[in-house]
Formats: sequence, C-alpha cells, structure tokens
Amino acid sequence: MYNTLSGRVEEFRPLVGNRVYMFVCGPTVYDHSHIGHARTYISFDVIAKYLAYRGYSVFYLMNVTDIDDKMIQRANEVGIPVEDLADMYFKSFLEDMRALGVDSVNLYAKATEHVPEILEQIEALMEKGIAYESGGSVYFEVKKFPSFGKLSRQRLDKLEAGARVDVREEKRNPEDFALWKAYKPGEPSWDSPWGPGRPGWHVEDTAITMRYFGSQYDIHGGGRDLIFPHHDSEIAIAESITGKEPFVRYWLHTGFLNVEGEKMSKSLGNVITIKELLKRFRPEVVRFFFLHSHYRSPVDFTLTLLEEAEAAYERLENTVSNLRRSVKEASGGVGETGGTGGGGEMERESGPGLGEKALETRRRFVEAMDEDFNTREALAALFDLAREANRALAEGGCTPEEVKEALSVFEDYGGILGLFGTPADTSAAAAEAVIRILLEEREAARRKKDWETADRIRERLAEAGITVEDGKDGPRWRFSGV
Ligand code: AMP
Repeated sequence: MYNTLSGRVEEFRPLVGNRVYMFVCGPTVYDHSHIGHARTYISFDVIAKYLAYRGYSVFYLMNVTDIDDKMIQRANEVGIPVEDLADMYFKSFLEDMRALGVDSVNLYAKATEHVPEILEQIEALMEKGIAYESGGSVYFEVKKFPSFGKLSRQRLDKLEAGARVDVREEKRNPEDFALWKAYKPGEPSWDSPWGPGRPGWHVEDTAITMRYFGSQYDIHGGGRDLIFPHHDSEIAIAESITGKEPFVRYWLHTGFLNVEGEKMSKSLGNVITIKELLKRFRPEVVRFFFLHSHYRSPVDFTLTLLEEAEAAYERLENTVSNLRRSVKEASGGVGETGGTGGGGEMERESGPGLGEKALETRRRFVEAMDEDFNTREALAALFDLAREANRALAEGGCTPEEVKEALSVFEDYGGILGLFGTPADTSAAAAEAVIRILLEEREAARRKKDWETADRIRERLAEAGITVEDGKDGPRWRFSGV
C-alpha cells in the first residue's frame, strides 16, 4: 500500500501476526454528511473488506468528533444543545453509511466519551514539559518535537509563517496548537486540572487510538485534507508521549472530492449530501462511481459522470443477472424458459472459454487490489469477464459449471466492493416473474396459432431490452439492454 509517510508503495506487514488495527478519521457531526464523506468512507470500507478477504483479522475503529468549534457554532445557530445536535447528525451519518453499504467499522468512538483518556495524554505532555498551560488552555509546543511535519514534509519555518494567522496572545509560538481549550460562556465544558474547558481536535484521535490499540498501530486513514496539520499533530502528540516511532506504520489518504471543479462549501451552495444523492442514484451506483477511480485520485464530481457510471454499472449488473438466471435454470429452478444450462456443454468456439476467463479474472482482481487497492483495475478485470460471459451466454459454448464459476467471481468480489448485492434483486426477481408470465401467455397464444399476439409480446419485450429466442426446449430469454 502507498504510505504517505514514506511516499512509496510498501509491502504491508502488520505489527502483530495477522491482526490489523485500522483507524480512520470520522465525521464532525454538525450537519448531514456529504459526498466527500461518501468518497472517503467507501474507500476505507473496501480496504477493510479486502484486507479481511486476504485473511487479516481487521479491527476498524472510527472516531466521531462531537465537540469542536463548528459543533458549538451550529448548535447555537439552531438553538439546541451541542449534545442533541451531535446525536441527530451521528444518527443521520449512520443511516447514510448503512444505505451505502459501509458496514465494516467495528467501533465508533465519540470524543466526548473519551475525555478521561484525553486528559491523561495532556497531563503526560505537561509532565514532559512539551505542553504548557496559558489562560486556562493547554498548548502543545511544536518546537519541542523537532521532527514535526514529517508526514506532510513541511519544514517548521514554513509552518510558522503559515500559522501566523492564528496568533493568540497566550500562545508562546504561532504554530503551537491547543490540546485543551479554556471554557467560554455558553460552551459545554469538562473539569480538568487547568480549570473547565473542552478538548482540542488533534488529541481526540490519539487518545482514542491509544485507548483501543495501544501506543503503535498499523493503519491510519483519512482524506488528504487532514495530512497537515491534523495528522502531523497526532504524530507529534503520540510520539512525544510514548517515545515510540512510528506511531502509525501506514498512513493512507484518499483523494479529495470537488464538485464541478470547486471545493464544496456552504457559501458556494454546492454541498451535495449523501441523502440528496441517494434520491437520484442507487447506493451501488454511487459505490461503483467512486471505485471506478483509484482511492488516491482526486475526484471531480459531476452529474454527467455519475450518469455514465450508472449506465456502465447497469451493463455489468445485467450480465450478473443473466448469469444468476442461467445458474438457476441449470439447477432446474426455472424450467421451461430454457437458458444455457441443463444441456451440458454446447459447441465451443475457439478461445479460452468462460471457465478459464473466470480464473484469469480472479488472478487479475487480486493482483490489482494487492497493488495499493487498485479498484479501477479490479473493475476492468470484471468488465472483461462480463464481455466473455455475455458472449458465452448468447452463443452457447460454456458448461453450467463455467457459468457458475463466472458468477461466483462476481459474487465473491462484489462482496468486497459492495456491488451486485441482492437488495436490487427483489425488483429483479419481480421483473423475472413478470417476464415468465408474459412468456407463458405467448406460448398459450402460439398454441392457439394466434401469431399476432405472440409476436406483439415478443416485440414489446424487445423494446424493454429483453430478447426472446425460440429453441427446441421452448423459449429462451436474456437481457440485451435497451
Ligand atoms: P469532516 O467531517 O470534515 O471532519 O471529515 C471527515 C472525513 O471525511 C475526513 O477523513 C475527511 O478527510 C473526509 N472528507 C471531508 N470532505 C471530503 C472531500 N470533499 N473529499 C474527500 N474526503 C473528504
């Protein structure tokens, strides 16, 4: 996997046996989640699932930022307590994740439920003389951690210049960051040795990960926007406390998502929430759209691109439906509508055949995913298999076992990517039942020599993208697309 820390693709070796401790920066729950969140969390969902598929035992932990400046500001605007705001939008986030099939997180950890751990870390830094108290707040003194900026590869002098915007009287140096923020009227607060206040942002994540993973762990993920200063600050806090290096072995960052070339922002009015997106597109289409580019690539979101992704995904899905039906028919589930199954091997044309293609696809898929989770290449392998499967189903030339093997490739890898699931199958199953009823009516018409009705049913089905062919075992049908 590509490690931001080294700037290279590295072989992955977990710290302990085949266990993987993976942490990803979770949302700040002050509003409904947007499609940038979907991009990042779908990526890490697939990464977690692929690691599990490769035999690792994955513990996927995610924090939830339920106290910070944005939370307080929004709660004041809406006129509700910060706690209620957090509850409302955390629920909304979980709904969105469930809808998108992001279900690999083992534990969500809220910042406000880890204040004792946060205070413990701040105290440790105070004892070491790396943090200092000023005006009831506590700051991390960046100069005391000379390798600060090793993740973003920014030098301290540059940081100082960049941080001048945040000059506060009480800070010793402009680049120092808050570990604890002194209480201000109207803000939620917790007791601390330095008076009431609330946690700073960076220490929230180090406190949570040290609580569950210990002083060092395997994978830390998040969007690219978080490399600096957030992740550099996490490294500074954790390595200052434990003296152990590296705090995290592999840092993974997703490419940022923009909308039509612009950063999403409330002021531009171009924020697209996951809920809005799912009104128009199915969750699997959204997943497919994101997985079609590498997780590290930036994404430029446009409606046209998503519509193109929808059409491409439906082609793939059609093939999977046809394979499923063929397998069902071969096992005698559907009977009279015929299909490729049941009759053993049909005359094969030259070429490698569907079975071999399925095996080759397995190899290609794993190779692509082993190379820094290249879902784009992995999907390309599935498209090639789909092409071969379409050919084999239309022309014959494959055994029921080969059809089964091709289907199992789509189903196994669909499980990792979150595609080709069964939820859409309820409508697909209903559609198939209706097709069977129509074909029965057509057969009844043919028996009565009512050719006009029989032809009309066949034409209407063709208009709906369903091709009917009459064979000696009765009619066979397949989706050919509209
Ligand atoms: P936030 O709620 O802004 O704290 O972000 C939560 C997670 O979503 C972090 O890992 C961010 O890096 C990621 N994220 C936020 N916006 C985007 C975006 N536009 N594109 C990709 N990832 C994003």
